[in-house]
Amino acid sequence: MMECPVCSTVVDAALMVPGIHATLDLSPKPGDLSICVYCFAVAIFTDDGRLRIATPKECEEVPDSVLKLIGTLPTGRKPS
Ligand SMILES: [Zn+2]
Repeated sequence: MMECPVCSTVVDAALMVPGIHATLDLSPKPGDLSICVYCFAVAIFTDDGRLRIATPKECEEVPDSVLKLIGTLPTGRKPS
């Protein structure tokens, strides 16, 4: 089970970002980006299938289209 490296929310769902993903395969690959919809932490999938906090440089590389999409998502509420 994967967890957000910042807020420890279990990562159990993914969204395809139009224009970023070429296929419908949503399985994360090492190096893929993950943005937590609860705390907005930017994380990177590692070779062993976990998430680590992205470096500041990696955060700068998040495309504007992704940031816009994140802004449209209902966020901020953890399931109780
Ligand atoms: Zn989080």
